[in-house]
Amino acid sequence: MLFGDAKTSLTKLVAERTAELAEANRVLQDLANSDGLTKIGNRRRFTSFLTDEWNRAARSKSGISLVLLDIDNFKLFNDTYGHHAGDDCLQMVAESLTQVIKRPTDLLTRFGGEEFAIVLGATDGIGARQIAEEAVRSINDLKLEHSASVTSPYLTVSVGVATLFATMENSETDLIKSADRALYRAKANGRNQIVECNELEPI
Ligand code: GH3
Ligand code: MG
Ligand code: MG
Repeated sequence: MLFGDAKTSLTKLVAERTAELAEANRVLQDLANSDGLTKIGNRRRFTSFLTDEWNRAARSKSGISLVLLDIDNFKLFNDTYGHHAGDDCLQMVAESLTQVIKRPTDLLTRFGGEEFAIVLGATDGIGARQIAEEAVRSINDLKLEHSASVTSPYLTVSVGVATLFATMENSETDLIKSADRALYRAKANGRNQIVECNELEPI
């Protein structure tokens, strides 16, 4: 049996160690979910956030939207200005896109190399279109020189937008597929533009 003082200091030590462990765990979680270069959420974060928002949309029978942005001719950007400048560019794009996101049910993540995803929980097609336009404007306002680009003297993006109502018959994979198809169409139509999945002709 421990005497009073020893017991108090042991309890204090356990509490300190527990707090340290909780903090270390939080730091690890942050690291596992964020992209090292841009510091925004990574693909893993995208997947878990989208699943949560999809389930919420299914429960509340509301729409959910996804905006996919892909930098145009980014390989040419790297070839012209170097990989380091390419990294700086990705950081600036991520920073400007961060300003566009305002609601706790919205999330910006790095979807892949030069691709970004914005999940918009409880958002219909009109709201998603607005965010997509704001996102494009924020990147255009950066006026990042891209002399080799075939679309503009400045860096541009192509954007695919999709909105779905979550039901028992579909899943978040359908939302990703729709936004991806819209993005593909934006590229095929000449890049530097926004395409919504409801504008797509059936394939
Ligand atoms: P498109 O207009 O069709 O999208 O053409 P693109 O050149 O942007 O697309 P492509 O898929 O051909 O090339 C993507 C480029 O993005 C190539 C790759 O090296 C570059 N990239 C991907 N991740 C990074 C990164 O973290 N840093 C840098 N600097 N470049 C990256
Ligand atoms: Mg790409
Ligand atoms: Mg690209």
